[in-house]
Amino acid sequence: MILKTVLVLALSVASLEAQTAPESSNSPTTVTNSPEKGVRDVVVIPGGYEIAIDTTETPDLTQWTRERVAPMARRWYPKLVRMLGSDGFEAPKQLTITFRAGMDGVAATSGTNIFCAARWMRQELDGEGVGSIFHELVHVIQSYGHSRARGSQRNPGWLVEGLADYLRWYLYEPEIRGTEIGKRGLAGARHDGSYRVTANFLNWTVVNHHRDIPYKLNAAMREGVYSEELWVTLTGHPLQELGELWKTTLAKKVENESKGQQQ
Ligand SMILES: [Zn+2]
Repeated sequence: MILKTVLVLALSVASLEAQTAPESSNSPTTVTNSPEKGVRDVVVIPGGYEIAIDTTETPDLTQWTRERVAPMARRWYPKLVRMLGSDGFEAPKQLTITFRAGMDGVAATSGTNIFCAARWMRQELDGEGVGSIFHELVHVIQSYGHSRARGSQRNPGWLVEGLADYLRWYLYEPEIRGTEIGKRGLAGARHDGSYRVTANFLNWTVVNHHRDIPYKLNAAMREGVYSEELWVTLTGHPLQELGELWKTTLAKKVENESKGQQQ
């Protein structure tokens, strides 16, 4: 049976846990006192948002999702909705985060459904697990499928992923410094390297040109009007040139760091 529990804002996760009869678990993870059966919790957020977190297949992860994933989603989903607004766009009000026992990889998003690979998450409960779900929440709000449906140009995947990682690494968990590029990564670093490499590039454009750049790129991609010309409009430089300027700055930084280490 699937237990449906509504997490009302006023109800703290701790008090909710107290209502759940603790069961001993044979799970190999560090999570203890998980309910024997998985659940579908619904996180209700002011503004009319509802995020269902489904651990029906993976009961050993229920407690972790309540302690770590639900609070992150409650705090960040409405924030991300505000940051990633565009004319006439209404972000999805209802979404689901489903943990899959047999899934390979890390996590994936299809429309308003986020799927998480339980085997990977179990290795990353205190590591990259929550941050990877944050990244998927960004994909739900990006909703770039709208523009594709209108027959416009397909948005470049490196930028879609880079934007999600920019928000993750520079807003959600900046203390981890997850996008650092050192001596080894420098040679192969490209602005369109996707994920955290592109996130590093986007942050450089924010620092050196304008802090709204990621949000303007987001709006253009959602509206189906993104093109490389936009970089010239936003920064005065063509994309390739911008990528080279970024790499020059990176190279100087790496050089200074290695000098610092030699002293
Ligand atoms: Zn992604």
